[in-house]
Amino acid sequence: MDFTRYKKGTASVWAGEMYSFSEGSHTPPIYNSVTFAYDDLDEWYEAARGNRPGHIYSRNTNPTVQVLEEKIRVLENAEAAISFATGMAAISNTLFALLKPGDRVVSIKDSYGGTSKIFLEYLPKFNIEVQLCETTDHEEIEREIAKGCQLVYLESPTNPTLKIIDLKRIALAAKKAGAVTVADNTFATPINQDPLELGVDIVVHSATKFLGGHSDTLCGLICGKKELVGRVFQFREINGASLHPETAYNVIRGMKTLELRVERHNDNAMKIATYLSRHPKVDEVFYPGLESHHGHEIAKRQMYGFGGILSFTLKGGYEEVKALLHNMKFVHLAASLGSVNTLAGPPRTTSHVELTEEQRRQLGISESLIRYSAGIENAEDLIGDLEKALTF
Ligand SMILES: *Cc1c(COP(=O)(O)O)cnc(C)c1O
Repeated sequence: MDFTRYKKGTASVWAGEMYSFSEGSHTPPIYNSVTFAYDDLDEWYEAARGNRPGHIYSRNTNPTVQVLEEKIRVLENAEAAISFATGMAAISNTLFALLKPGDRVVSIKDSYGGTSKIFLEYLPKFNIEVQLCETTDHEEIEREIAKGCQLVYLESPTNPTLKIIDLKRIALAAKKAGAVTVADNTFATPINQDPLELGVDIVVHSATKFLGGHSDTLCGLICGKKELVGRVFQFREINGASLHPETAYNVIRGMKTLELRVERHNDNAMKIATYLSRHPKVDEVFYPGLESHHGHEIAKRQMYGFGGILSFTLKGGYEEVKALLHNMKFVHLAASLGSVNTLAGPPRTTSHVELTEEQRRQLGISESLIRYSAGIENAEDLIGDLEKALTF
């Protein structure tokens, strides 16, 4: 079924489900089966050789998991998509499947903590050089790409200060250098941003966040050209970071409401960012939807919505952060983001807990910074909650 003529809200409900399931089931059945039986040995042989459709073993493929993979493939308008047990499994499998000793990677300083760790600790062990550039210094990134590299790894918006990279510009530079571009689209989701359309080769997702949407499930996904995704799939088959069918079902269910939720997350985050930017106790607000944000013009060009995550600094320091967060009612003080419930926390205890205060300062992460993942609650209630809490 070709979904290109239809909108994403329709695709997120129907993609991967355009045929009737066993017994006429309205929802995708959870195939909790490790292996798949054949009546005929010749049929089994042909399926195992890939000459006819059919599943063999769930580490490789599974019918429930395939429904999810088809959904994200359609939403990202990609040739192929595969899933993983977690977002980090998607990222590490992609990097280790596509790179080899002697290769060079160009990326940014602000990538997700786990991804940074692969760049700084694990790839160098395999004699793969990694150059991390200032995240918004497009000239520096282009210069490093032009020196020669095999893979360019991007993320936009970034965590926790929502920096914006011009994906089209950097993907073009990578193409000229013959490098593959990978972009983490977790913060934006396919509702807010289409990296493949901007020239990126592979999109990766932590579906643990907005795609699953309810913070009850870990999952990773990648999308892109058949040849590239196929290489990662072959690595995943033996690496074993496959997704469980029950987990796949949770993400399928979450993705049916993706457009509805993301519209609400966008709307709430915009209202809250605007409110906070006018509050006397707030020092600085980081949200790409605000005109004052350094990446606003690029974000306006390459995003359809500005996302559900914002961050802000308070006048004062960590004591003020504690006072505010302890005063708030409609928030879980927890890591992670992209849930229906509002989540907030200081990078000091979440994403950047392993760094020293000095290292955080170098990354522009102040001790009074709070990351706020706006849920889908009523915006007036969330703002009312902040209003009361900001009276310390
Ligand atoms: C959470 C996150 C990841 C890692 O995903 P897991 O599902 O937790 O493994 C990767 N990238 C970004 C941007 C994230 O927010």
